[in-house]
Amino acid sequence: MNSIQLEKNISLANFTTWRIGGPAEWIATPKNHKEIQFLITWLNKKKIPCNIIGAGSNLLINDKGIKGLSLCMRELKGIQIDKNTGIIEVLSGEMLPTLARKAASNGLHGLEWAVGIPGTIGGAVVMNAGAQGHCISDYLESITTVSLNGEYKIIKATDLNFGYRYSLLQDEKLIVVSARLKLESGHSESKIRQITKNNFKHRLKTQPYKYQSCGSVFRNPEPLKAAKLIEAVGLKGFRFGGAEISKIHSNFIINANKASSYDVRELIKHIQKQVFDSYGILLETEVKQCGFEI
Ligand SMILES: Cc1cc2nc3c(=O)[nH]c(=O)nc-3n(C[C@H](O)[C@H](O)[C@H](O)COP(=O)(O)OP(=O)(O)OC[C@H]3O[C@@H](n4cnc5c(N)ncnc54)[C@H](O)[C@@H]3O)c2cc1C
Repeated sequence: MNSIQLEKNISLANFTTWRIGGPAEWIATPKNHKEIQFLITWLNKKKIPCNIIGAGSNLLINDKGIKGLSLCMRELKGIQIDKNTGIIEVLSGEMLPTLARKAASNGLHGLEWAVGIPGTIGGAVVMNAGAQGHCISDYLESITTVSLNGEYKIIKATDLNFGYRYSLLQDEKLIVVSARLKLESGHSESKIRQITKNNFKHRLKTQPYKYQSCGSVFRNPEPLKAAKLIEAVGLKGFRFGGAEISKIHSNFIINANKASSYDVRELIKHIQKQVFDSYGILLETEVKQCGFEI
C-alpha cells in the first residue's frame, strides 16, 4: 500500500478539459479504495486538505494552483456488466462514454444520451450529469464511497437527494469509489448502437467539440435556457483575454487562446451582469471552481 506515489508541484492544466489551472501542491492517482483509505488517513493525520478530480470536465482551477493533495480518480478503472439483468458495477474513474458504448454493445438500453459527456462515472454521479431529459440518477442503484475520515460505505441512490445537476455529494464531501447501475436488458444491440451514434453526431454539430471547454458553464434557469439568454444580450462570440463565448453554443466558454482562470472568471462575471441587467435573472454556474476564495 505504501507504494502509492505522491508527486509534487504538477500542473493541473492537463487534468482539465479547459486546459487551465496552476500546479497541485501534491497529486496522487489511487487505483483502488484501499489506496484511497490509506491516503485519507494520512491526510487527516497531517491536516492536509484534499481536492478530488475526475476527468476535470466540469472544473475551473485557479492559475495559482491548489494547496494540499489533489486526488485524481482517472486510474480507478473496471467495469462489470451482467447482460441478462442489466446490472453494471463500475469503478468511478471509468469514462461515461466508454461505459455508454459498452452498455450499447451489450444490448443494454438507458445510457444512449451519455456518449458525448467527457466525464468519469464519479463526476457524473456528483454532478448528476445528464442530457436529452435523462440523467445518471435515473439508472443509479447505489454507490460505494470513502468519507474524509476514511470510512468505506455503500449509499443508496435514493439517499443522495438528486436534482437537476445536483446531488448531496456536492455539499457533503465523500469520495465516490464505484457505482451500481441498472439498465434495461433485452433490447436490439444494433438499434441502441445506432441511437448512441446519432446522439454523438448531433453533439458534434451543436457543440464546440473541437475546442477546449467545460461544457455548459451555467445552469439553465428553468424553464429558460442560459444559452438563449446569453445570445439575447448579444454576447455570442464575445471574448475576454483568451476566453471566448462559443459562436456555436453560447453556454460554452472556450479556451480560444491560452486563456487563464482569470479570463474565464471575468467572462463569467460579465455574462452574469449583462443577463441580470437585461432580464433580472442571475445565472448560476454549473462549473465547479477550485482553489479560489469564492
Ligand atoms: C464538451 C463537454 C460537453 C459536456 N456535456 C455535458 C452534458 O451534456 N451534460 C452534463 O451533465 N454535463 C456535461 N459536461 C460537463 C461534465 O462533463 C460533467 O459535469 C461530468 O459529469 C463531470 O465529470 P468529471 O469526471 O469530469 O468531474 P470533474 O469535473 O473532475 O469534477 C466535478 C465535481 O465532481 C467532483 N468529483 C469528481 N469525481 C469524484 C469522485 N470520484 N468522488 C467525489 N467527487 C468527485 C469534483 O471534486 C468536482 O466537484 C460537458 C463537458 C464538456 C467538456
